[in-house]
Amino acid sequence: MTAEETLEEALGECADLLDVLLDVLKKHGPEPFLTWPIITTSPQHFPQESGPEVDRVAAIISRLARLAGLSAVPLRLEDHRPDDDVASIHQQPVVSFIGIDGDVAVFSLECLGAPDLLIATLCHEVALFAGERRTPKHPYRSTQTDTAPFETDDLIRAAVTTVVLGWGAITANGAHRFAKTGVIQGYSVRSEWSHGRVGALSAGDLCCLLALQAVVRDDELDGASFVETLQENQRIELEGWYDVLLPHREELCRRLAMPVEPPPRGDESEQRDREGDPRMTIVRRPIHRVRRNRTGEHGVVGALVGCGFLVALLLASIDSDALLVAFGLPVVGAVVGALIGRRRPKLFCSAWDCGAILDQGTKHCLKCGGAVESDITVRELDELRASKGERFDELAEAEYDAEPDDDDEPVDDDV
Ligand SMILES: [Zn+2]
Repeated sequence: MTAEETLEEALGECADLLDVLLDVLKKHGPEPFLTWPIITTSPQHFPQESGPEVDRVAAIISRLARLAGLSAVPLRLEDHRPDDDVASIHQQPVVSFIGIDGDVAVFSLECLGAPDLLIATLCHEVALFAGERRTPKHPYRSTQTDTAPFETDDLIRAAVTTVVLGWGAITANGAHRFAKTGVIQGYSVRSEWSHGRVGALSAGDLCCLLALQAVVRDDELDGASFVETLQENQRIELEGWYDVLLPHREELCRRLAMPVEPPPRGDESEQRDREGDPRMTIVRRPIHRVRRNRTGEHGVVGALVGCGFLVALLLASIDSDALLVAFGLPVVGAVVGALIGRRRPKLFCSAWDCGAILDQGTKHCLKCGGAVESDITVRELDELRASKGERFDELAEAEYDAEPDDDDEPVDDDV
């Protein structure tokens, strides 16, 4: 830094973020930015919960809403994932804050995606909820479709809000991460790799804001637990920005209307924790309880048991009349087995990736989280899957047949 370098020059392309930050601070006040802890994805802040994925996503949204001081607003998570959605490290999570429906904040889950990007995605969406300023077109009967979509400015504000609320380390990591996996196929290894990007700001922008926060709070980076959780590139960016911004600390405090002497850190997080989780309703994806007749398999078991008795009787060398009757034992066993099998069918979940055994009285599947909509037979399940497959093929074909857009026309390059 030179003596003449202004704050704007030091911030370079990130200078515009200062105005957004000021705007966000107006909404949330200086307290979260100055005193709330900078949290990480550690189990301390996000305890590992067992059970269906949709319940886990709902728990994280609740927790973030509570951390943001939004415990009073009831939440609803709608599970719109396809039947065969499973978490994959190379896929982008798709969870969206839809808007406020009546007095309920509505979120939609469409794809689980990479587990390490999921919490960052949820941070952005809960931040959008925290900063919601759109007015529904019909204030007294708002529904999701009545609410206008979010603009880029809203998404940038949400990204800045994540830093203000103390989630900057999580979203900086989620803003860019590279993943590579290898799959052994025969004698070769097939590598898969992907760049995951979550949120409207780059990792560099978020690291700048995070450094700015540390500077204004007069925090040391050495030994800070959140710094240790950052990926290598993000950590280097953060340290670089910290060194650049530290000489401008007083001006930063003045511009953001923050005290030069930072206030003591209280137990705000504990206080917010005591408020309890907001009320959360999960709208589960529908599944069917499939009934498979077990006449055949129980019949075979019955016949085998009958054979066992027959062999035992033969070895015991009983008299010839009784032996004649004994030869009927496998048949009797098969019939009894078949009857038992018919009375005790196997009941299982219809979801493609699940198939968990379900009880007769179960309302939702404890493995995939789907809600039981109806009871169907194996044959009906096959028909359902076939019709879904046909619909998918038709869609794919329609897309293939569709006229290409003008933009898709090949362009002859000048030679
Ligand atoms: Zn299931």
